[in-house]
Amino acid sequence: MTERSFRDVEYNYQLINERIAEAAEKSGRKREDVTFLAATKTVDAATINHAISLGLDHIGENRVQELLAKYADYDLANCSLQFIGHLQSNKVRQIAGKVDLIQSVDSLKLAQEISAQSVKRNLTTDILVEVNIGREENKSGVFEENLEELLCQIAPLKGISVKGLMTIPPICDNKHKISKYFYNMHKLFIDISAKKLDNVSMSILSMGMSSDYYEAILEGATMVRIGSALFGARNYT
Ligand SMILES: *Cc1c(COP(=O)(O)O)cnc(C)c1O
Repeated sequence: MTERSFRDVEYNYQLINERIAEAAEKSGRKREDVTFLAATKTVDAATINHAISLGLDHIGENRVQELLAKYADYDLANCSLQFIGHLQSNKVRQIAGKVDLIQSVDSLKLAQEISAQSVKRNLTTDILVEVNIGREENKSGVFEENLEELLCQIAPLKGISVKGLMTIPPICDNKHKISKYFYNMHKLFIDISAKKLDNVSMSILSMGMSSDYYEAILEGATMVRIGSALFGARNYT
C-alpha cells in the first residue's frame, strides 16, 4: 500500500465520522451512540492497521479463510474483530474465540454450533440475528415473522449471547425505498425489544453500508458497516 492510499483512508475516515455525527444528531442521538465498523474484505492488514491507528475500533470480515490469513497481522489491542458474512456451521470452530461478535446468525443449527464451540473453549460469543427484511429469495437472514421463534430457541443456549439484529436490505438506487427498509427494520427491533425476551439483549441494530449509512442512521441504526467508502473500491484480484 502506498502513502497516497494511506492518506485517502485518513481523509475518508474523517469524512465518514463527520457524516455519522451529523446523521446521529439529526436522529436525536450523539456520535458515540453509533458504532462505525469497517468492512475489511480484500483490504490488506497494513491498511486495516493504519485505519485502526486513526481510531477505528471495530472491523468485520466476511470470509473465514481471509480472516484466518490476516488474523496474526491485525492490531487488535484496541479493536474488536467481528464476523459479518454468511457463515457455514462447519467453519464455526475455525473462528470461535477469535471474533468478538458474529453478526450473521440466521438458523438454530448455526447458533447451536457457535454455542458448542464456545462452551468447549469456556467462553461466550456475542451474536446478532440476521433478518432478511426485503424477503429476498436466496438471501441469508430470517423472515421477520420467524424472528421471535428463532430468538426464543437461541436464547437458552449456553456460550452464546444475543445482542441485537443485523440486516442487508435489497440493493436499490432509490433513497426513499431504502429508507423504508431501514424504517421497517428499526420498527421490528423496537417491537422485539419491547417483548423483553429472556436472555435476549436488543442493544445493536447493524444496518447501512457505504452508499446508505446516512439513511440507516436517520432510521435508527446503532452500527454501520462501511467498506468501500473508507478503503476505496475493492480489488478482487
Ligand atoms: C462488504 C460488506 C459491507 C460493506 O460494503 P460497502 O458497500 O463496501 O460499504 C457491509 N456489510 C457486509 C456484510 C459486507 O459484506
